[in-house]
Amino acid sequence: MSSKVQERDLIVSKIRDGIVIDHIPAGRALIVLRVLKLRGGEGRIALVMNADSRRLGRKDIVKIEGKELSEGELNLLSLIAPTATINIIRDYSVVKKFQVKLPETVKGVVKCRNPKCITNQPREDVVPTFKVLHLDQPILQCQYCGTYLTIDDINAQLAGER
Ligand SMILES: [Zn+2]
Repeated sequence: MSSKVQERDLIVSKIRDGIVIDHIPAGRALIVLRVLKLRGGEGRIALVMNADSRRLGRKDIVKIEGKELSEGELNLLSLIAPTATINIIRDYSVVKKFQVKLPETVKGVVKCRNPKCITNQPREDVVPTFKVLHLDQPILQCQYCGTYLTIDDINAQLAGER
């Protein structure tokens, strides 16, 4: 083990069970926390911002004890932090490690921002569904009205829900 790795591990103490989200683009850790539906039953939550990263230059890291990720949370994570690596921790060891993957569609996690969209009509029972477009930043396109949703739109929506 290099001294670099040991140094990094010293920043945050180990968690017993939970998740570590590594390689988050610097500055996105707070948005990542917003995406995760934390219910208060989780244990310790640790945030490291602007850590050194060979891959990204600077990166953020989020550790959450007692947290499991749902598919919807993973989909949103992949949009907000496409470079992120998820580590699943059980009994102090990493039992699973994978990089987030952009889905082809995102269903039911965010709303269309077009008020006239059929998905926003109270009498219609239509689940908002978006196609994921891979531009320099991933963006969403409503499958019903074609309206675009950027990362900033998603962030604003998640912030409003709290
Ligand atoms: Zn729409």
